Amino acid sequence: MDTVKKSAKKSCPFCEAKRDPSYKNYEELRRFMTERGKILSRRQTGVCAKHQRMLAREIKRARQLGLLPYLVA
Ligand SMILES: [Zn+2]
Repeated sequence: MDTVKKSAKKSCPFCEAKRDPSYKNYEELRRFMTERGKILSRRQTGVCAKHQRMLAREIKRARQLGLLPYLVA
């Protein structure tokens, strides 16, 4: 697992790629979650406010579809 620890670059990966987060790309969404299924904070991922909100919504959708796990205790 690669950890994003470089604080030099802090731009939103979705803005950079010019696309929005989608539950269809749940493999990608997983990168913005902890191993326990928690959504990482913007500080940790560099996602902008707009995309963070979309990300949270898409992750919830993916969970409902069984693509991503719910919070693991
Ligand atoms: Zn963005």
